Amino acid sequence: MPIGGEKEPPTAVEHEEATVRSTLSGREWELPGMWNRMFESRVLREHTSAGFAELDAIPGAESLEWCYGCGKCVPVCPVDLVGEYGPRKIHRKVQIGTDLLGDDDLWMCTTCGNCLRVCPKQVDMIQIMPATREVAVGRGNVPAELQVVFEKTFRYGNCLGENPRRRHAWAKGAGVPIRVLSSDPAPVDVLLYVEDYWSYHPRGQEAAQAFARVLHRLGVDWAILGAEEKTIGDSQRLAGEKGLFEALMDDVVTTLSKYDFSRIVIPDPHGFNALKHKYPEHGHHYDVAHYTQFLAPLVDEVSWVRSLDMTVTFHDPCYLGRHNGEYDAPRRVIEALPGVRLIEMSRCRENGYCCGGGGGGMWLDSFTGNHTSERLSERRVREAAATGADVLVVCCPYEVSRFEDAAKSTGNEALRVRDLAELVDEAMGGAGSV
Ligand code: SF4
Ligand code: SF4
Repeated sequence: MPIGGEKEPPTAVEHEEATVRSTLSGREWELPGMWNRMFESRVLREHTSAGFAELDAIPGAESLEWCYGCGKCVPVCPVDLVGEYGPRKIHRKVQIGTDLLGDDDLWMCTTCGNCLRVCPKQVDMIQIMPATREVAVGRGNVPAELQVVFEKTFRYGNCLGENPRRRHAWAKGAGVPIRVLSSDPAPVDVLLYVEDYWSYHPRGQEAAQAFARVLHRLGVDWAILGAEEKTIGDSQRLAGEKGLFEALMDDVVTTLSKYDFSRIVIPDPHGFNALKHKYPEHGHHYDVAHYTQFLAPLVDEVSWVRSLDMTVTFHDPCYLGRHNGEYDAPRRVIEALPGVRLIEMSRCRENGYCCGGGGGGMWLDSFTGNHTSERLSERRVREAAATGADVLVVCCPYEVSRFEDAAKSTGNEALRVRDLAELVDEAMGGAGSV
């Protein structure tokens, strides 16, 4: 829907004062000049279509121009709550001459999807941002901290720059046997695609070990890829590195083609999103479930051995919830846990607040910190603490470290952050009982 040519602004009509007559009583009263624009057409004097012409030429970025300024997107944008943001504001900035390709605003959106949920014009930041960032990356205009992550991912196959051979080092501490397909390639039911933070981050490794014990106790036939696994890289794609994502996809598909498995279970909502939506666009189809979706139908059969005796609140990951419509599976698991009471935060489910980690935000905390009053994760932790819960439960590997840091920096250390897999493991007996 491109703008054709320059728009001619109408002539502004200004009055010193206006007289208004009530249509009910006939009474008249006078308004000062500051109100007069309410009775005349509003003029956008600085309008230009040049910025939109540039965006129109980028496949995927066209819809920013469709904005008609209703403002619905701004109050739901998590970045606006701690700064100045939202599609309407970006649209206006482009309208008055900002070059989005060279502006810091290009890197602030977490692609959380909350604006698209409410936008009547389908202004789609989930398409606009990756497409525009891809062009900016091609021009070398990318925040330094993000560039480092791109390079680590390219070199090592993981965003943390860790040694690929140590990808399954976490398995040693699980206390249960874990089958690695490269050494035991027989057919298997469940392939656990561990992803980066569960493989390498110390708190993620604890969740991975907990989930391994849960799978073992449930008698699941499962295995991992070990050193052959590479990140799926969906957040790198959304941050503008589509080429890197597609190169990783080639490697992932080649590795997966070597083994015979029925389904993939993955703890990372970002990887889950790519396997479910992006891989099929390239002809790669897998039966994939987020680990909460895998657990939800099984919880009724579990023999719980421990009551957890805690009040919890739950954070919906954007890429499990809004992007994939899954709000119930994690809640079903939480509600099955003995001794656990769930209190919802006011922003939850479809209107859940973003942790700030999506769309590359995971690696841009210093950069975004220059434009916001506090981190999104800090804002979210304060909301969680306000519920009075003992524990903030998460089911995305980005979130344990983000929220634990935020709990410290906001003085909410009493609020513990736990992966849902850890709570399930604990209620089943924990590490000592396998
Ligand atoms: S909701 Fe859509 S149309 Fe309304 S201001 Fe935001 S981007 Fe523009
Ligand atoms: S996708 Fe989320 S962070 Fe980005 S502009 Fe929309 S509401 Fe804001």
